[in-house]
Amino acid sequence: MAKSSYQAPRGTLDLLPSQARARQRVERVAATILGRAGYEPIATPIFEDTDLFERGVGRSTDIVRKEMFTFEDKGGRSITLRPEGTAPICRAYLEHGMHKLAQPVKLFYRGPFFRHERPQAGRYRQFHQIGLETIGTDSPLADAEAIMLLADLLAELAVPGVELRLGSLGSPDSRAAYLEELKAYLRSHEGELSKDVRERIDLNPLRAFDADDEETRAVMVGAPTIVERLDGEDAKHFAEVRALLEADGVPYRVDPTLVRGLDYYTRTIFSFVCAGLGAQSEVGGGGRYDGLIEQLGGPSTPAVGWAVGIERILLAMGDNSAPVVRDAFLAAADDDQRQRAMALAIELRHAGLSAEVDLAGRGLKGQLKHANRIGARHVLIFAADGSLQMRDMKTGEQRPVAPSHVLDELSK
Ligand code: AMP
Repeated sequence: MAKSSYQAPRGTLDLLPSQARARQRVERVAATILGRAGYEPIATPIFEDTDLFERGVGRSTDIVRKEMFTFEDKGGRSITLRPEGTAPICRAYLEHGMHKLAQPVKLFYRGPFFRHERPQAGRYRQFHQIGLETIGTDSPLADAEAIMLLADLLAELAVPGVELRLGSLGSPDSRAAYLEELKAYLRSHEGELSKDVRERIDLNPLRAFDADDEETRAVMVGAPTIVERLDGEDAKHFAEVRALLEADGVPYRVDPTLVRGLDYYTRTIFSFVCAGLGAQSEVGGGGRYDGLIEQLGGPSTPAVGWAVGIERILLAMGDNSAPVVRDAFLAAADDDQRQRAMALAIELRHAGLSAEVDLAGRGLKGQLKHANRIGARHVLIFAADGSLQMRDMKTGEQRPVAPSHVLDELSK
């Protein structure tokens, strides 16, 4: 076959039909599960003002520091391809006065996201997420429901080997004292830390828990953790989330070293990991972000949400996409019969069956061969004399059929 010298851009994926079908299925299952719980779809633009992410995601994060696809548009505005979905949804919540609706506002979304990362298995520059946001409540019930819905989705899709890790970051006030303690600990081990972590002791000390560097990891084994320092309302909130998960039989493990790559999280954070995924082991995760909407200029509005990577779900599931069902192929001996074939195909499609006709001007023999090749279950053959035959491609049995009976025959 002819091969062009063009390739998909670095870090992007073409989804060929069997993978695209698998992705459609994931999206359908998610829409069903989330829809039943009263979550409504929302869609925001693929690009936003750069400032939204700088403010929302946080200037000290890897995403903002290194990974955004940012460019100037023809009007001189700084635009960024969205690296995540929560800040845009909070922007939309404020812009459209959704705080006036019944609270909480329960939303879900899906679509492409962009991060200029070093590509590897499970890590791309354009990837796809399904995400959920529950905006306008600080109840631990909302955290537990969000977590359970993601657990449900992964279970329904039979993603193997999933483990839920749970942590809490406390609220900004209670975290302040802990962060000082952590910074002091990191400074006392400064010589053993990676350059990246050392440079961010003041800016983002929590990221030290996420370091890949061996020596840094060894230091972090002895680091104080915030989960041990939670008190008052934060401790109560975390205990309630845990109790709710336990009451509903959702297994989890408290991971005191859990952190996330976005600055906006408060209190509950969680991560679903999948052993089969290798280095990029997280399939989805999220947490509570009680300060984000205020940070974006709105009223203080507590919220919780998550995002799951569709490519990672598909990687973890392996290639198990269901084959396409092709109920009928309608073959025709000549141009007059082609018209009849098309008319019947349209009727069958309207009745909910899949029906195809030849689009390549093949002769009758070629059409039969083609029907076999694409795996049609039945072929309807319009002969030149106007008669119609139906062939069962599995048994090879062929017999005359009246056009008015085709639908009944195929539905049997
Ligand atoms: P985050 O928005 O960073 O909390 O990530 C949520 C989920 O999105 C992760 O658990 C991954 O499944 C997925 N994800 C994040 N970044 C990438 C990427 N570069 N490539 C593929 N999937 C990603």
